Amino acid sequence: MKEKIIIIGAGISGLCASYFLNKPNTVLESKPYAGGLCRSFYEDGFTFDCSGHFIHIKDAKIKNLVEKLCGGIDTIKRNTAIYFGSKLIPFPFQANLYYLDEKTKKECVDGILKRKNIEINNKMSFIDWSKAMFGSGITKYFMQAYNEKLWSWDLKKLTAEWTGAFVPKPDAQTIAQSAYKKNKIQYGYNSVFYYPKTGGAQKLIDGLLKKTNPVYNAPVEKIDVKKKLLFTSGGEKTYKYSKIISTQPIVELVKELINAPSEIKKAASQLHSNSVRCINIGVKSKKGLPKFLKGKHWIYIPSKKIPFYRVGIYSNINLSLAPQNSYSFYIECSSANGIYEGAESVVETLIKLGFIGLNDEISALNIVDMPYAYVIFDKNREQSLKKIQDFLIANNIFSIGRYGAWEYSFIEKNILDAQRLKC
Ligand SMILES: Cc1cc2nc3c(=O)[nH]c(=O)nc-3n(C[C@H](O)[C@H](O)[C@H](O)COP(=O)(O)OP(=O)(O)OC[C@H]3O[C@@H](n4cnc5c(N)ncnc54)[C@H](O)[C@@H]3O)c2cc1C
Repeated sequence: MKEKIIIIGAGISGLCASYFLNKPNTVLESKPYAGGLCRSFYEDGFTFDCSGHFIHIKDAKIKNLVEKLCGGIDTIKRNTAIYFGSKLIPFPFQANLYYLDEKTKKECVDGILKRKNIEINNKMSFIDWSKAMFGSGITKYFMQAYNEKLWSWDLKKLTAEWTGAFVPKPDAQTIAQSAYKKNKIQYGYNSVFYYPKTGGAQKLIDGLLKKTNPVYNAPVEKIDVKKKLLFTSGGEKTYKYSKIISTQPIVELVKELINAPSEIKKAASQLHSNSVRCINIGVKSKKGLPKFLKGKHWIYIPSKKIPFYRVGIYSNINLSLAPQNSYSFYIECSSANGIYEGAESVVETLIKLGFIGLNDEISALNIVDMPYAYVIFDKNREQSLKKIQDFLIANNIFSIGRYGAWEYSFIEKNILDAQRLKC
């Protein structure tokens, strides 16, 4: 049996690890296809992703690589909104108080002016952090309302460690002024983003597959770290490895280690995540997309009365994603226990809200469940993760990627981490 480097998972992280590695390696993928969460679906002329997979990049070299792999990308200026009180207001909420009714606006301005003067740090609970950062009004009307839906987790137990670039943080003066004067600044890490000219997020994966040929239907089931043997239930069943690069969820990886000490198993049991269902919908329409959604890329939905937290409009990203006389959405619902709102009631709600025209016809419906979606940042995560990673590295296992590193990462970071990996 020849010894080799084994890469677990043919998502963006695993394929990039293989792409950048200058040593022989084998990529094992449990599914019959590659892509992980960067996979696309082609149905009835529509192109769907696993909800919006837009590429935001800071590093110029990564941008060139992505452009080459995708065979061309569009540069898109973000146009997003928040569905608040039956109308769309600009994102982010905290820099656009101008658009609120007078009572809500007053509560938000009072809240920011009357914040407690305390030292803010990311280990605080998200709720305390948000109140200290934005005041009680903005917390109540957007930060708490939206994030309870996104995370499906008790926000008093979630820390603010994930907020980094993901939550725009205008200063208190800018926030208060935004109540009286329209804000013109585009906030956020993704104010400009990139997307393949055709074919959806999958184009990135297809580009990488030109260099790597994964073994499909080969779920890794057991790893003996002492004998350096890896067992799958498909393909060549036993592999002798020198090193493993794993991109599967680290909690699943730990379950597969037949000789991991109990403290490592215990540490893994303290890591949590939520799940997300993405409902992709293709709509045929003579009239076209309802006018109030014209040009919008995605919409945040904080209302508790609506069962989804975000709606994206693929056909506004790129015309090639939907056939003529049609438009297409992705709808995101999150869950702590894998139980979701049914697609039928989601469609009914979209019609009731006017997102889908009364006489329009649903011509494609595609449901993607993501059992691991957002990892939960809580008081145990950092310590438990360090314990597990130290053990893995000592045993020549490098766990990377969004779920391998158990982090809130995105495509550019996944590519960079795979490139920088020293093993
Ligand atoms: C709702 C949502 C929206 C997102 N939107 C964006 C966005 O707009 N832009 C962006 O940059 N990022 C976005 N992301 C993040 C992005 O999806 C991830 O950063 C990226 O896809 C992670 O890739 P990965 O390869 O690390 O993991 P994955 O995509 O999860 O790939 C892991 C692979 O390992 C395989 N695998 C698992 N277990 C085994 C096993 N035992 N044996 C063999 N193979 C196995 C899986 O089948 C899979 O193919 C979003 C994520 C979510 C959840």
